[in-house]
Amino acid sequence: MLITDSLLLDYKRCSRRAFLNIHGDSRQKDPERDFLNKLRQDNKRHIALVLENYYPHYQQVPFSNTSPKEKAQTTETLMQQGVNCIYQGLLWVDDNTSTSVEWRENFLRIMPFGYDYLGKPHLLIKQPGQSKFGDWSYYPVSIHLGRKAKPEYKLVATFYAQLLAIIQETSPPTPELITRPLKQSSVDTVQWLSKLELILEECLTTLTTEEEPELFISRQRCNLCRWYSHCYAIAKSQRHLSLVPGVTPSRYGCLQEIGITTTESLAQANSDTIQEVLGKELGEKLQQQAHSLVYNQAIARSQSPYNLSDILAERTFELYFDIEAEPERNLDYLLGVVLVNHLTQTQTFYPFLAETPEEEEQIWQQFLKFVNTYDQAPIFHFSEYEKDTIKRLGNLYGTPHSQIEHLLSRLIDLHHCVITSVILPVENYSLKSLANWLGFNWRDAGISGDQCVCWYDQWLTTGDRSFLDSIVRYNEDDCLATFHLKNWLWKFFTTIEF
Ligand code: SF4
Repeated sequence: MLITDSLLLDYKRCSRRAFLNIHGDSRQKDPERDFLNKLRQDNKRHIALVLENYYPHYQQVPFSNTSPKEKAQTTETLMQQGVNCIYQGLLWVDDNTSTSVEWRENFLRIMPFGYDYLGKPHLLIKQPGQSKFGDWSYYPVSIHLGRKAKPEYKLVATFYAQLLAIIQETSPPTPELITRPLKQSSVDTVQWLSKLELILEECLTTLTTEEEPELFISRQRCNLCRWYSHCYAIAKSQRHLSLVPGVTPSRYGCLQEIGITTTESLAQANSDTIQEVLGKELGEKLQQQAHSLVYNQAIARSQSPYNLSDILAERTFELYFDIEAEPERNLDYLLGVVLVNHLTQTQTFYPFLAETPEEEEQIWQQFLKFVNTYDQAPIFHFSEYEKDTIKRLGNLYGTPHSQIEHLLSRLIDLHHCVITSVILPVENYSLKSLANWLGFNWRDAGISGDQCVCWYDQWLTTGDRSFLDSIVRYNEDDCLATFHLKNWLWKFFTTIEF
């Protein structure tokens, strides 16, 4: 079996994912999302920037049709020659790796015989120190798009260090990580070698058994996984507890120990038992959530910080605000507002759209002018992002502080209202889930904010206006979904009897 850096990375993120990559039926995989492709492109640009700034004089391992093993051989030849910086090298270790038995045995504990190991560090950098090549050796550099040196990055970097140790017959060198924006850090090999040993052992056990690791649907972790539809269908059919908002993997473990494995069993369990395991407040909250899902019921929270029937009371003019952004460019390119006029019973959409990144200031000023025209109207939005963006744009473009403060005081975050006031039968509290449960449908089904990020990029590169049109339509629907949610909340809290 071939153990690669990407398999290890997948395993660290989700053991099931690594297992399915090896043993699953690839026809059940989702098509690759545009967003993944965009991330790949962004990563390439980031690597180019790192090379330009730190390692302009690198030697690239020739890209050819040769096998990984042959490419690894070319890499080793470059190492033997003492090339200072090797870009896109391959490290390959198998039972026949021509290293002295003594050296190999040093590392058998971590990398047992019987497997092939392959790593593709972005860079191998020459440093002084004895190795089988002479008085020099190499350490690996990994370049990542993320801003933090995540544990999975450290794990894979240590894997490279371990491969290098075997190949060059040295102790594992200290690997380096470069995250954004051009931030360098070192990995503590002592700490991470023991973690690598543990994880690699678990990984090999998991991958060589027949049994699929159990699934756990988590929005963050599963978001870009191509097994999502496959796993989600199973989770749905099992009424899996990971579909209950608030059930984290560790809480799931606690519930499993007392025999609670489905949404129904959580809803119907003895509350004292649940609260003993999870604590009173959390136990009560999760049981209510499960109850809401099982009986498809909205449940008002007893201790809401808001008087929602007042906050959400109908005003003549109301504004519903949603933003589309391009995080890579730190750009907010669409400030969309639906103006609801209750006198005329109309809803009108105003998209303040930057067709180029340079137009951001212009749309910000247009947006300000527009919202100031209705300066008594509350501005409903969903999530913190709108508030943070108003502050960011205000600072960036020198908007008077008093004006920003007034604008912020008009904001009403419906996401916060919902999560503190009501429990709904949804699998997560995103706008999409909530509005879908309320019967609202986006005109273009299956589209997400990620897709808009890709479309904007495609608009900028191709000039094809249909991408912009799709983004604007999506943004308008987001604003209308926010309006729909507000109406529902207002009705719910004005008719409910506490
Ligand atoms: S969808 Fe989630 S649970 Fe399934 S393999 Fe992917 S990350 Fe793991």
